Amino acid sequence: MAAQTEESDTAREQTKAEQDVDQVRQRAVRDQQRLDSGAVTSPKDLANLQREIASLAKRQGDLEDVVLEVMERRESAQERAGELTERVASVQSKIDDATARRDAAFEEIDTEAAAVTKEREVVAASIPADLLKLYDKLRQQQGGIGAAKLYARTCQGCRQELAITELSEIRSAARDTVVRCENCRRILVRTAESGL
Ligand SMILES: [Zn+2]
Repeated sequence: MAAQTEESDTAREQTKAEQDVDQVRQRAVRDQQRLDSGAVTSPKDLANLQREIASLAKRQGDLEDVVLEVMERRESAQERAGELTERVASVQSKIDDATARRDAAFEEIDTEAAAVTKEREVVAASIPADLLKLYDKLRQQQGGIGAAKLYARTCQGCRQELAITELSEIRSAARDTVVRCENCRRILVRTAESGL
């Protein structure tokens, strides 16, 4: 925006400088016509008129230099504005691209979340109410993980290896007994890899 403002400012400056040149030129033309018409006869007036024409020519030259200088500034402002416009377009296209990818990811996540929620409902319906209640309570207390796999004698919830006595208790517990980690109190899920 600053570059565009600079560009329009210099455009206005150029117009003003060109008008200045035009005014001086018109006045010089009028003076020249008076001189050529022969209406001015007094030598003193003639000398004054000629002096003024010379001074106007000099003034016009100076003003034309101003116009050139403004034009140069305007050109570099245009170049800069053009460059920046291109960069804005390129960044915008990156933003558009990232937004499209993000939206696609959202959609994927929503679909997956819906499928997982449905699956959970089915599984939850098959679990005894008191166990589900315990699980939900633990899940709330333990950062979203209420049950953990017992893997190689280690609770995968808190990563603590279980004590020998605890392991032998778990080993002798019935298959449908709910066993819990001594350390984090999460429900432990026994598998063939539990190391029991
Ligand atoms: Zn644990």
